Amino acid sequence: MTAKVPLNLYDLTRLELTELITGWDFSPVHAARLWRYLYWECVGSLADMTELPAKVRTRLQAETSVGVLPIALETDSSDGFTRKYLLSLDDAERIETVLMRFTGRVTACISSQVGCAMGCVFCATGQMGYTRHLTTGEIVAQAVHVQRVLRSQDGTRLRNIVLMGMGEPLHNYDAVLKAVDILTDGNGLSLGADHITLSTVGVVPGILRLATEKKAIRLAVSLHAATQAGRAALVPAARKWQLDELMAACRTYSETTGRRIFYEWTLIEGENDSEQHARDVGNLLRGLPAQVNLIPLNPTTGYDGAPTRSEAAKRFQKILADEFGMPSTVRQRRGIDIAAGCGQLAIATQ
Ligand code: SAH
Ligand code: SF4
Repeated sequence: MTAKVPLNLYDLTRLELTELITGWDFSPVHAARLWRYLYWECVGSLADMTELPAKVRTRLQAETSVGVLPIALETDSSDGFTRKYLLSLDDAERIETVLMRFTGRVTACISSQVGCAMGCVFCATGQMGYTRHLTTGEIVAQAVHVQRVLRSQDGTRLRNIVLMGMGEPLHNYDAVLKAVDILTDGNGLSLGADHITLSTVGVVPGILRLATEKKAIRLAVSLHAATQAGRAALVPAARKWQLDELMAACRTYSETTGRRIFYEWTLIEGENDSEQHARDVGNLLRGLPAQVNLIPLNPTTGYDGAPTRSEAAKRFQKILADEFGMPSTVRQRRGIDIAAGCGQLAIATQ
């Protein structure tokens, strides 16, 4: 007989947790206290939840677990603001989570899969291939981990999350969206939905589904090229979800939700950073509520392109602004020395 896997408490919404506790004939008050332990105080062990009555704790210990992800390795960037955590999962797989401090705010970059099936040529996660989806509990645990670290340091509250770590979040739609519900619960980590950014490679059915949800999260779409052929060369998933279909889905999303989309553009020298490329993206996004996020290419072992120089990035921005009235930002480069930058997250396979 195989042992029953205990229920991971991080997998449950507050309602589900309350149903679990009351289903055992305990008062919902204990569910509320447990929720605060999990998400307000970030207590990682049932044994330490001493304000719960012994009989509640015993039942919890028998049937559930707090799915804390042990730290396998932590690395600090020489930039002084970025720390990368290699976290272990129950099946010995590992993922990476990044804590970034910017002036006045802290952002956690969290993963949604072990590896990624989408195979973007310049991305280290894509280069490692796909292993599996993360569970809701494994996604939530990363945010709790970062909040626990901040609590133990200076008590800062985690206010921003980007789903831009390993994996394609819309390929793991249900687990990711349930995690968003838990992260935004007002009695827990209480993140503002508009402080959670989900970045997708352009999974069209996922974008259309997201448009129907009443969730004010921010959507970022990885574009990188403004023609079907150019995009397919960088992003193999574009062969399945073609550029015209993607842009139609983005238009539907913005019309349905009233929200703008952030379009990401990894700037690769000589590949997609010319003045003509800037005009192409300006034309492609004309009339759409949009902001362009330019990301200078970060180095990965499987791709030998070079990042665009800052003058070319500025020229790109200026064309977008002057000729199209299109706002854009250039993403600050963070944690490059410890491979914690965009697209650098990967787990070496033995
Ligand atoms: N899977 C999602 C989110 C993760 S990657 C997506 O692809 O959107 C977050 C962003 O980093 C994406 O826009 C991605 O294209 C970009 N990126 C990937 N590899 C990169 C690299 N080597 N340098 C710069 N940006 C990269
Ligand atoms: Fe996957 Fe995003 Fe990397 Fe593409 S860029 S391989 S979708 S994680």
